This record gives sequence, C-alpha cells and structure tokens, in this order.
Amino acid sequence: MLRIVVLGSAAGGGVPQWNCGCLVCRAARGDQPELRSTQCSIAISGDGDHWFLINASPDLRQQLVAARQLHPKAGQLRHSPIAGVILTNGEVDAVAGLLSMREGSPFTIHAHPAVLAILKANSIFNVLSEANVKRVAIAIEEPFEPRLPDGTGSGIEILPFAVPGKVAWYLRDKSLPGGRGDELGDTLGLRIRDKKTDKYVVFLAACAHVTDELKARLAGAAVLFFDGTVWRDDELIAAGLGQKRGQDMGHIAMSGPGGAIESLAGLAIDRKLFLHINNSNPALFPNSEERRILERAGWQIPADGMEIVL
Ligand SMILES: [Zn+2]
Repeated sequence: MLRIVVLGSAAGGGVPQWNCGCLVCRAARGDQPELRSTQCSIAISGDGDHWFLINASPDLRQQLVAARQLHPKAGQLRHSPIAGVILTNGEVDAVAGLLSMREGSPFTIHAHPAVLAILKANSIFNVLSEANVKRVAIAIEEPFEPRLPDGTGSGIEILPFAVPGKVAWYLRDKSLPGGRGDELGDTLGLRIRDKKTDKYVVFLAACAHVTDELKARLAGAAVLFFDGTVWRDDELIAAGLGQKRGQDMGHIAMSGPGGAIESLAGLAIDRKLFLHINNSNPALFPNSEERRILERAGWQIPADGMEIVL
C-alpha cells in the first residue's frame, strides 16, 4: 500500500507570500485563511510507518508539526518516522527544509550528484553530518529503492527522469555550483511505484511543455502531481507582479492551448492534482471560474495535509 501526504502545494513563497499584496495573498491573510498553503512537498510511505519526503521545503518545520503521520512514535524520547529525503533539484525551495532536520536523527538524502555537490559546497549544510545523514546519488532513468533504517527495502521504487524544459542543469556539463544562472528552476520528475501493487504516482513540480514521450510516461498513473504554477502564461505580467512569463521560468500554464489541462486530457490517469501553485494563480479561489474549469476537466488542487492511500 502506498500512502502519500501532501505537505504543501504552493510554489516558492507560499500563500500568502511575505511580501505580496496580490488578490490571493490579501485574501489568505484576511477573510479566507483556507487559502493558506505551504511550499511544495509531499511525503510517501510504503508501510505507513516509515516515510520519505520529496523535497524539503522552507516550510518543513511547520509541515512536520501539522502532519500527524510524521510525528515521533508515541512513547519514544527521540524518534522520527522520516527515513529519507529525495531531492528533485538544488533550489532553496527544495533544500532549505533540510536545515530543520539537524537534531541528530539519522536519515538519508537521495539526490543527483549535481545537487549533492551544491549541499557539499554550502557549509551551512554541514549541520547534517555525513556520518549521521548519508548522501546517496541518484541518476536519471535509474530506478532505486530507498532503504529503511534497518537496511531493508522500503517497498517503493523511484525512477528519476528528465523533464521537458529549458536546457536542464543536470544535463549540462558545467562545474557546480555556480555557472547555473537562469537554468535554475529545472527539476527532475519522479515515478514512484509500489512494488507490491505495481501502482504508481508521478511527481512533476516543474514542466515547460508536454511531449508525446512525457504523455506515454504519465499514462497509467494512479496519481499525477503536476506543475500548476500559473493559470495563464502571462499571469505575473498581467497582475503587475513581475516581468516573467510562466515559460520563462520553465512552467507550463494550466489553461489555454498547449496548457496542462488540454495537453493531458484523455490520458488514462486516475487522479490528477496540481502542485507548485503560485499565489498569483486565480484558480486558488475555490469559487473562481478558473477552479470550475479545472475541476470539470478532472483536476484537483489539494489542501495541505491531504492524504491519499493507494
Ligand atoms: Zn501574492
């Protein structure tokens, strides 16, 4: 049985973002606190006792307080059910939460060598001693099964794959860190498979466009978590929040021709959820026309804490 907890569904900054006065952020601070959400991360478990985080967001501490599944076992003075963290990229949104896991509990970090190099080059991450917090390299198109603390398998097989986007940092032959410039934002996709049932979940928090190859990979998924950063490509510009289009940041729009809703329509996917939703996105309002459109198309926006059992 595969269990998934959505720890947070927001893009960088969360909802509300500390310095943002957009419609959604204002409402989230005011009379619609249900709009609040923390930065994107999910937790997965094959046995319900041991959990793996997909990315460690800057909001991790708050997320771990909120998620009872991730609390220390009753009766133990020091314990955490978190056996590991799988990082899909080396951005602050994915790694900053590691700094909240510095109190001496052992766990394993699984990440691409380029991301591990970023952690190593930043001395602040030395708070996670390598004796206690093992680093394990992952590779594109090489499935791996994260281990439990006793060395046995977790029952979950994870396949990292490259995602359509700008030239990806992990494919570039550049010394890291530094020299990454505007390639920041690229991220690995993960296919997460329950070895017992063969059901699988795909996690894809950044994707610039949908290719036929990607469709083939997503078809058959029990659950898809997909890039929902913006509703429309020029959303930040139209709202006066910035000069970048979704595409400039490597993010497909939810709506419109070639958007996620249209591109993924008709694929055999049991459950489709948007993640990594920017606070500028009008679909965050439950009564919006945008929300009705995405729900009619079979999509959901998950609330923090939502648990899915497969
Ligand atoms: Zn905002």
